[in-house]
Amino acid sequence: MSLAQGRPYLAIPGPSVMPEEVLRAMHRSSPNIYEGALVDMVRGMVPDLKYVAQTEGRVAIYICNGHGAWEAALANVVGEGDTVLVPATGRFGFGWADMANGLGVETQIIDFGLKTPLDPDRVAEALRADTDRRIKAVLATHVDTATSLRNDLAALRRAMDETGHPALLMADCVASLGCEEFRMDAWGVDVMVTGSQKGLMVPPGLGFVFFNDRAAARRAEMKRVSRYWDWVPRSEPEFFYQFFGGTAPTHHLYGLRAALDLIREEGLDAIWSRHARLARAIWAAADVWGSAGPLTLNIADPAVRSHAVTALRLGAPHGARLREWTANSAGVTLGIGLGMSEPDDPSGTGFFRFGHMGHVNAHMILGLLGVVEAGLQALDVPHGRGGVAAAAEIIGGGTPVLLNRAAAGGIPAE
Ligand SMILES: *Cc1c(COP(=O)(O)O)cnc(C)c1O
Repeated sequence: MSLAQGRPYLAIPGPSVMPEEVLRAMHRSSPNIYEGALVDMVRGMVPDLKYVAQTEGRVAIYICNGHGAWEAALANVVGEGDTVLVPATGRFGFGWADMANGLGVETQIIDFGLKTPLDPDRVAEALRADTDRRIKAVLATHVDTATSLRNDLAALRRAMDETGHPALLMADCVASLGCEEFRMDAWGVDVMVTGSQKGLMVPPGLGFVFFNDRAAARRAEMKRVSRYWDWVPRSEPEFFYQFFGGTAPTHHLYGLRAALDLIREEGLDAIWSRHARLARAIWAAADVWGSAGPLTLNIADPAVRSHAVTALRLGAPHGARLREWTANSAGVTLGIGLGMSEPDDPSGTGFFRFGHMGHVNAHMILGLLGVVEAGLQALDVPHGRGGVAAAAEIIGGGTPVLLNRAAAGGIPAE
């Protein structure tokens, strides 16, 4: 019997759940793109975007997905013959490196595998070895959405600074912005890219590149930057169309305005704490399930686990069967395993992921976990009993949430 009829839950790591406020804001006829409300609204959005990124720097908005934002960021600071250093901790580092290759940029990749964070000392070592300064930027993924690993960008910056190497620190925050603690200026990130469809709760289609003065100086040295990706007119527009290099993405902008209102209202500290607490509830359930069965969290150390996405392994064929069961019988779509494989499961069907980014609250996470527990039961997959109860204890209990305090910044109020 299917119990899927009702409100569906797309519990994948992007696109994320869209708030009613965002949907309602987008449901309108075409607005005037020359003057009036839309034009005023966009100018007013810039400070809110900078608040979410915790930066006094600048922001350029593009009509594109995360891949476009990757290319946009690169196109402004590196070109043919330059080198970028990529400490990869899963699929997304390789993806960004591939974009660089497409621009004729050499890539030097340090592969940290699928279960461990990047080691800032090894990045520093590579920079020290680069005596003729061919490396122009380090491309680091904050949260790798495939492995659900979170890297410590502040520690990476400190290690880079100790080398005296001038490479820019560029961060991919597509999965983490608006979910996990991130402080662009305090952590010394020079360029940050993100997209609209994850923590920002808007449909896919907007890409953002934030950059500071160091990155702007590097841009000024570039011999050539492709017109469409050039961040100068977009971040310092004289005319409204320059914000977008053409027609404004009208409806996305209304959606984004509504999402930024929600973020402002809740406040970043509360948002980070909410994600942290919900993530801990998920881990607690997974620990119980795994205590008497094959389920494991991909990342063993809680200190480096993402608060926005969780990768799990159930083993083939259980992973794919569980995804099928939750979608068809309970109305919950789980994320596929991405970039994972095992000798007896080359396409990684034994892995799956939970997206818990953005517009997600306690009842949704308890519902998600309850459905997964029911699925394990229905499919006869051995598992420890009481995962949902353990999650409820985290959500109901007063245990303080331990965010990763290694990085700079205040402790978010619970
Ligand atoms: C989703 C994601 C991307 C790519 O975004 P698209 O919109 O799919 O192009 C890049 N990096 C990270 C970390 C992501 O989570």
